[in-house]
Amino acid sequence: MPELPEVETIVRGLARTIPGRRIAEVRVETPASVVNDLPGDFPALLRGERIESVSRRAKFIVFPLASGRTLTVHLRMTGRLIVEPSPAEDPYARVRLHFREGGWLRFSDVRRFGRMRLTEDGAWAAGLGVEPLDPAFTPQRLASLLAGHRGPIKTLLLDQRLIAGIGNIYACEALFRAGIHPARPAGRISGVRVRRLHSALVRVLEEAITWRGTSVEHYVDAEGLTGGFQNKLAVYGREGLSCLRCHAPVKRVTLGQRGTFYCPRCQR
Ligand SMILES: [Zn+2]
Repeated sequence: MPELPEVETIVRGLARTIPGRRIAEVRVETPASVVNDLPGDFPALLRGERIESVSRRAKFIVFPLASGRTLTVHLRMTGRLIVEPSPAEDPYARVRLHFREGGWLRFSDVRRFGRMRLTEDGAWAAGLGVEPLDPAFTPQRLASLLAGHRGPIKTLLLDQRLIAGIGNIYACEALFRAGIHPARPAGRISGVRVRRLHSALVRVLEEAITWRGTSVEHYVDAEGLTGGFQNKLAVYGREGLSCLRCHAPVKRVTLGQRGTFYCPRCQR
């Protein structure tokens, strides 16, 4: 699933070409992939709209429109947004936008969990937690988010209501860097280690953005290119391979129904 660095990479790619373009035609190939919060027909409401800009909030791709409405896309497991000069053959195409200035934006999704949503207010963003790369995310803020929680730290890091944008890959990698066992009760991590975790989270996300994301399974950016951070992973997907730091075999356990990778010697 694309996480913050992958969605950020897609947004930066889209931001180079999409802002200012006007929607001339909307083809909904799979109606279930569309959520329309407004009365009226989705294609008819979008036709003639100008896309003002492209940004990211949590794992959402956000297109503010000239009318004041907002188009958001959540890619979930396998969604992709691809800019192309003409509509490519694609059995998984869900929605296609054609621009008056030329070019197409294709929302493609093999597993069909992704959603494109047209909305008039900020309801789509209700309940989302702090952005981990925002200055508001401080070590103190992380400490207060973890305080009192008895659940495993790994599961808490995935809770989008607390911190938005982190998923399985970067939670595993940050906990490895911080030397914290993924099953450790979140509220029982010392102040020094919370500060270490804060810095590990920020750094791993920033590095992954620099490498244009992690391509495991399906992720490609808006130009169809894979990222490079999969070659930098220390524990994620490395079950049985030796830890890069101590050479002990990396372990995999299931926490909160998600595969979780860690080094039993480096992470206590
Ligand atoms: Zn180790």
